[in-house]
Amino acid sequence: MAYSNEVRNLFTEQLEELKAAGLFKEERAICAPQDSEIEVEFPIGSQKKKVINMCANNYLGLSSHPDVVKAAHDGLEHRGYGMSSVRFICGTQDIHKELERKLTEFLGTEDTILFPSCMDANAGVFEAILTEQDVMIADRLVHASIIDGMRLCKAQNDSFKHSDMAHLEQKLQLHQDKRLRMVITDGAFSMDGDLAKLDKIVELCEKYNAMVFVDDSHASGYIGKTGRGTHEHFGVVGKIDIITTTLGKALGGASGGCVSGRKELVEMCRQKARPYLFSNTVAPVIVEGALKVLDIISKTTERRDKLERNTIFWRKSLTEAGFIIKEGETAIVPVMLFNAKLSQDFAKDLYEEGIYAVGFFFPVVPKGQARIRTQLSAAHEMHHLEKALDAFIKVGKKYNILHKSKQEIIEMYGQ
Ligand SMILES: *Cc1c(COP(=O)(O)O)cnc(C)c1O
Repeated sequence: MAYSNEVRNLFTEQLEELKAAGLFKEERAICAPQDSEIEVEFPIGSQKKKVINMCANNYLGLSSHPDVVKAAHDGLEHRGYGMSSVRFICGTQDIHKELERKLTEFLGTEDTILFPSCMDANAGVFEAILTEQDVMIADRLVHASIIDGMRLCKAQNDSFKHSDMAHLEQKLQLHQDKRLRMVITDGAFSMDGDLAKLDKIVELCEKYNAMVFVDDSHASGYIGKTGRGTHEHFGVVGKIDIITTTLGKALGGASGGCVSGRKELVEMCRQKARPYLFSNTVAPVIVEGALKVLDIISKTTERRDKLERNTIFWRKSLTEAGFIIKEGETAIVPVMLFNAKLSQDFAKDLYEEGIYAVGFFFPVVPKGQARIRTQLSAAHEMHHLEKALDAFIKVGKKYNILHKSKQEIIEMYGQ
């Protein structure tokens, strides 16, 4: 069918509906390298504004670290711009193998396979390993890429209530007749900033003979004493059968992802995972950058320690100022506002004050749980956080939500 006006109108209407519902995502242009202070054009075409960035996944502040940039430059010199091949034809360089080895060492697993992204890792891993005789039991708040990966896999698809270990146990009992059971969770949950109860999950999986899958994208690099991730935090290194993670967050912020874990499972991915077999190899520049990142964070815990101090300061200060935050250990700190419009107005006012943070509401988070999600970075200095705190307090006063209960805020603004 031709792209007639009728067809065009069909999509125009859908886009208008999104706008009318306030769900249309406006792009913003950052006119600088990613850092704690950035210049932003919002909306695009308007005057640039210098703001403190509180919404990047740049947890360790390595996205524009001079040593990482230099390593990437060297990579460009020595290994070229691109590979023009998937991995298994002629896209594997020595540095790809080296990065897989280094990731294995860092994560404390048996083997690792790189993917173009963690989205791709999650899209390919389940289908490569499980069959219709198996079952996947996922936490109900897992990342969208896991949900998509599960859809592509023929194993039975089941779930348990978020971090509800009693419910998980019921599901494990229910599925004892399956060939394989795989329990699937995020390590750190991106919207609430809480950690999966990995010690309990491992215990249940040992009791009911199930495999453990953890997507540690929001944790790799800074959670745990040496930043290895959620499994280190809970003392279960070596007991996670599959870890997927991204190079696009704490680990340099460029792109790329991996599946790391039991060597047979990694080998199954090399043989069968479709995004690995049919999508181009990670560019050499990024591989060299990621190698430098692992080098930096394996030598010293300085950056994850600073991030931890920043996070503790930020959580404590917001709470003392009278905000309601979601408790947790991660550098993701959601400031609860409950009402969708309030979350958008609040974010806009913060931006006017020079603070860049984003308001989230349904369907990204459940109805009535609108919030501003703030994210800390090792690139934040105390003066950034103090300025951000002042702005939060000023805007909080304007909307009269400081030292108010959830009930009182909902009475003022609705849910
Ligand atoms: C960000 C994220 C991904 C996607 O990672 P990419 O490498 O950007 O594709 C997957 N899973 C989780 C839990 C994430 O937070």
